[in-house]
Amino acid sequence: MSSIWHPFTQHGLQEPIPCVARAEGAVLHTADGRRVIDAISSWWVTTHGHAHPRIAAAIRAQAERLDQIIFAGWTHEPAEDVAAGLRAIMPKSLTRVFFSDSGSTSVEVALKMALGFWLARGEARHRILVLEHGYHGDTIGAMSVGQRGVFNRAYAPLLFDVETVPFPGVGAEQAALDALERACARGDAAAFIVEPLVLGAGGMLFYSGDILAEMRAICERYGVLFIADEVMTGWGRTGTLLACEQAGVVPDILCLSKGLTGGAVPLAVTMASEPIFEAHWSTDRSRMFFHSSSYTANPIACAAAAANLAIWREEPVAERTQQLGDWQRQQVAALDGVRNARVLGTIAAFEVGSGEGYLADIAPRLMAYFRENDVLLRPLGDTVYVMPPYCIEKSDLVRVYAAISGALERHR
Ligand SMILES: *Cc1c(COP(=O)(O)O)cnc(C)c1O
Repeated sequence: MSSIWHPFTQHGLQEPIPCVARAEGAVLHTADGRRVIDAISSWWVTTHGHAHPRIAAAIRAQAERLDQIIFAGWTHEPAEDVAAGLRAIMPKSLTRVFFSDSGSTSVEVALKMALGFWLARGEARHRILVLEHGYHGDTIGAMSVGQRGVFNRAYAPLLFDVETVPFPGVGAEQAALDALERACARGDAAAFIVEPLVLGAGGMLFYSGDILAEMRAICERYGVLFIADEVMTGWGRTGTLLACEQAGVVPDILCLSKGLTGGAVPLAVTMASEPIFEAHWSTDRSRMFFHSSSYTANPIACAAAAANLAIWREEPVAERTQQLGDWQRQQVAALDGVRNARVLGTIAAFEVGSGEGYLADIAPRLMAYFRENDVLLRPLGDTVYVMPPYCIEKSDLVRVYAAISGALERHR
């Protein structure tokens, strides 16, 4: 009997918990000898595949050279490599790279940067604008800017007030833009935080690049900082390095994590434009950016990220994501009895059942069926999505969809 308390797991329902012994590519091997296909990239992090040889080698070499060093006032080569590598491929105006440890902390950092910017400007702007159905992590600040609901009801008294812009779904685009414009026009908005093109945890909801570009333009008009949370959408997930690229959008602040190390070890960055850095620059110590964690820019994690950047420079990653996208479209088109099937880049999603939301009864039943069939899928309520590592074999992807068809047949 294990004493581990698992995340987002109802221990009253979900035992026993499978134990994974090793993994390679898009395949997990359990301790009891099963071969399981990882169809959700181990919760959206694994991009090039598990135990990628280049990333694993970089981690080993770095662990033997320099494991950890305070990052306040000190630096090291892997962090410098990552910063330079990011500067070379991310939007030119994002000149500053701040390290942290997870997507949630990259968002906390982004929010703190935005508030620090306005404090330095001497303008009373504290309000954060958010998108309906958004998800930005599970720390208190990140929950505050995310969708309220069953996930955070217990903590609601601690969450700060935000202004929510309706989701710009088909037919609701103008209402969303108008609401954003009204919120910006009030003059107290510090920043608008969005997941570009795809709202992940909110149910793999897609919206158009044109709307993203228009939202960015509205923020610009009112001087509201634009924060792009590309923690999930970054690193090729939507078919381009960043989702923002597809809309020609450059944010003021960019959050990256998940695929930053190829999904091997935790690391995050918040990239900021020069004015945001300058607002904190001073010879006055009371104005520095007050944020750190013990493992900020851990050298081993940075070495993994540097290896990921080298893979992006030297290997045909874009061809792989394109190929996977093509296969996803073929597989989704052949599915029977699903609603609202959609594919963007490497992400495929669709609704099943009768539309009951996150706690829909169908989700645990589907999940159990997938587990029995050696496929790792984790529906978001009645939304099933397939988001595998880019290296998945076609035959394995076909097996994933066969399991989905089997589950739909069983639970129709
Ligand atoms: C996963 C996710 C986060 C949180 O990242 P963690 O590393 O789990 O803290 C934040 N934003 C988005 C868009 C995410 O998908």
